[in-house]
Amino acid sequence: MHGAIASHAFPENRLVSSSSTSKRFVSAILAFAGASVVGCAVAAGQPKVDPALHEQALGILQKSIGFRTVAGAGQVPAYAEYLQGVLVEAGFSPNDITIEPVGDSATFVAHYRGTDSRKKPLVVIGHMDVVEAKREDWKRDPFTAVIENGYVFGRGAVDNKFELSIITAAVGKLKRQGWKPRRDVILAFSGDEETAMVTTRKLAQQFKNAELVLNGDAGGGLLSEEGQPVVYGVQAGEKSYADFKLTVTNPGGHSSRPGKVNAIYQLSQAVNRISSYQFPPMRNELTLAFFKESLPKLSGPTAAAIKSYLANPDDAAAIATLSADSNYVGQLRTTCVATQIDGGHAPNALPQKAVANINCRIFPGVSFAEVQKTLTEVIADPAVELTLPDSGSVVSDASPLRADVMNAVTKAVHARYPGLSIVPSMSAGATDSMHFRAVGVPSYGVSGLFMKDSDEFAHGLDERVPVSAIDGALAHWDSVLKALAK
Ligand SMILES: [Zn+2]
Repeated sequence: MHGAIASHAFPENRLVSSSSTSKRFVSAILAFAGASVVGCAVAAGQPKVDPALHEQALGILQKSIGFRTVAGAGQVPAYAEYLQGVLVEAGFSPNDITIEPVGDSATFVAHYRGTDSRKKPLVVIGHMDVVEAKREDWKRDPFTAVIENGYVFGRGAVDNKFELSIITAAVGKLKRQGWKPRRDVILAFSGDEETAMVTTRKLAQQFKNAELVLNGDAGGGLLSEEGQPVVYGVQAGEKSYADFKLTVTNPGGHSSRPGKVNAIYQLSQAVNRISSYQFPPMRNELTLAFFKESLPKLSGPTAAAIKSYLANPDDAAAIATLSADSNYVGQLRTTCVATQIDGGHAPNALPQKAVANINCRIFPGVSFAEVQKTLTEVIADPAVELTLPDSGSVVSDASPLRADVMNAVTKAVHARYPGLSIVPSMSAGATDSMHFRAVGVPSYGVSGLFMKDSDEFAHGLDERVPVSAIDGALAHWDSVLKALAK
């Protein structure tokens, strides 16, 4: 998740609604942006894009929104065929595009042949599925693209059909122009990123020998409310996501005859212990870069704490100050928090069962088993059963900040916004990238979308994207692909 500092780009996503949701804009950046949105000296230079290409990309986005690619609706294969048609029209051989059914969804793979077969492919990913949207909740039909006041409205307008449309249009243009990459460029679109990520896992296996992955569903730029660029984030790592279930079962009985055990009391004590526990502080290249880039934009006690932390990343006082701030705690340690609770079966009966959900955002590289072991020790009560149902999430380490990737992204972003700061980031997870990182392919969220935080409605009602974001994103992908497929 991932635009205006796409929640892909920055941590602590306030929109996340399920384990496998990708997330766009995030509040950590607000700490970052809040102090800084004024006086950005960067001039907004929008690139010149052929009006016909702009119209084509806009048309693809509108058509894309029309496919109701929510889980269970079975429309992903039809959407994939539509994208195939667009690329074939641009000059791709139908043999170079494969749509493989996976359950009622599908994977989409388009192969743009390079001139040097010794080079490993560059894989560009995104997802064709969208989060459910109910007609009665929306002002407009979520699956009919509507252009109003300079915005395209519809489910997926941002997440992730914007980027798929831009990538498809940009790659189609390159094909038409006869561009020949040195390495193969492979578009690999998943079909259930928002839910089980079975298609993602399949693609990650298929392309585990890739040179690198670029993800259009993460990273991106933040605009101030005045439309000035604030920062661009490259997502190079993400925390793993886990929902642990705590369960206490008792024989129950009549509430007029309370005994020694009570499932609700036992569960409450376990949850309380977790609430007062903090996982040990951790850091990596991305989190240190995040704090370093945040510092110039901040003042007061937070800035002082970050300064001390950067001078000595073991400074316990600085870590304590920053951990108390919800904008930063996720960048410092694994976090586990109670998010749901359910217990008892009648007002006048002793509870037979009480269950809590403990949602963990696990620092890159830490295993689920380690977290489970820690939680078991913290709870210290064998009556509380701790389980981790499979959510499709995996543990992945952060990708190294490769110079070629950072240079390519810097070049593309600075062509639009000279001098804008480019911040590597670790997001709260979980995007498709985690599955590629888990099989050892470095993956980078490099969305071409710049947005205001106030325009961010991914996963929510009345999702929208500014029409004015299209040209910059087309130029962005054109530049990044040319730089990295050399
Ligand atoms: Zn997404």
